Amino acid sequence: MTQKIVVDFGLCESNGVCMGIIPEVFDLDEQDYLHVLQDEVTPENEHGVRESVRQCPRQAISIVDE
Ligand code: SF4
Repeated sequence: MTQKIVVDFGLCESNGVCMGIIPEVFDLDEQDYLHVLQDEVTPENEHGVRESVRQCPRQAISIVDE
């Protein structure tokens, strides 16, 4: 089963907490728009992604089973 990273852009306030934890997955551009660079949870990114879910102050990040 694949696990996907989903950001609720209605909740995200572009504070960059997730990018600070794992910049390979989350990137804020010059317009403060958040891009999800890898939308699948992998063994390599799982720790950082789960930490981002936990630490996002807006609870905007979720992991969904596909
Ligand atoms: S930590 Fe949450 S609120 Fe902050 S940029 Fe990432 S998704 Fe948006």
